Amino acid sequence: MPETKLIDGKAQAAKLRANVAAEAVALKAKRSIVPGLCTILVGDDPASQIYVRSKGKASIEAGFASFEEKLPANSSEAELLALIARLNRDERVDGILVQLPLPPQIGRQSVIDAIDPKKDVDGFHAQNVGGLWSGGPALIPCTPYGCLLLLRATQAKLSGAEAVIIGRSNLVGRPMAALLLREDCTVTLAHSKSRSLSGIARRADILVVAVGHAELVRGDWLKPGAVIIDVGINRIDVPGGKARIVGDVAFAEAQGIAAAITPVPGGVGPMTIACLLRNTLLAACLRRGLPAPAIG
Ligand code: NAP
Repeated sequence: MPETKLIDGKAQAAKLRANVAAEAVALKAKRSIVPGLCTILVGDDPASQIYVRSKGKASIEAGFASFEEKLPANSSEAELLALIARLNRDERVDGILVQLPLPPQIGRQSVIDAIDPKKDVDGFHAQNVGGLWSGGPALIPCTPYGCLLLLRATQAKLSGAEAVIIGRSNLVGRPMAALLLREDCTVTLAHSKSRSLSGIARRADILVVAVGHAELVRGDWLKPGAVIIDVGINRIDVPGGKARIVGDVAFAEAQGIAAAITPVPGGVGPMTIACLLRNTLLAACLRRGLPAPAIG
């Protein structure tokens, strides 16, 4: 049985973060520019508080300026939009990240539309989405870009490969499809209404799964030699009253079939935050008309 290689997201993310930090040092030394990332948290959701804190910590470790704005859970959409307008004008801020989910009285799309596309480090603004699909300049969503970097790190042959993505969210699946198309893959984007999902998956040389359904993809859905990127994060209960985090792919069943697979945790997750730092550095350069640093 051939050995399945583990794709080490932690190691790749550490490399990218070190490259970003080195570029930030050079930017400060040569041009007195310190990239700035501002997170906005509306409400006090405990998980969101943790995410925002870890993004702030990562920014500081990269040598960036870190700003944090907090609004109460009952804030109006107008209040949030006014804050975004102020940050759009703030020269110290290169990246604006609104932590999701938002309270129900605030429309997610209005918020995305309000962020200056040049500071949209999540890559959700229509101008960045259009740039990604049309091959123009764009800030690219962090999770799918991280998946692409992991595929490159495995030296998977992308040009001409059959790539199947399961999950079509704006956050992961759709931008992943655009990225793999750009790499000359033949792309299939599957979702909850797709018929014969296992048959579609079995065609894949490259399989990216972003569904949010624990171990949906079984070993017998995999083409021997496929490279698997598992984006899913699912908490499952295990005997003894404890919980465990698993992906969307049955990891143990993939062993000996897949050529390589990302673990969960420790695969895609660490890349997402590293790519957020990359986007902030890019935004700091591009919005001042400077060339994009070569950091992957
Ligand atoms: P989402 O917005 O809920 O989208 C899920 C997608 O999966 C939808 O397109 C849905 O199809 C499809 N789907 C649901 N059930 C399915 C099934 N049984 N068969 C086939 N397709 C199915 O989720 P998301 O934001 O993309 O996130 C997906 C997973 O990735 C979650 O576990 C999330 O926690 C994880 N995630 C991880 C990271 C990271 O940094 N590691 C980042 C983002 C997300 P329809 O469109 O037809 O409804």
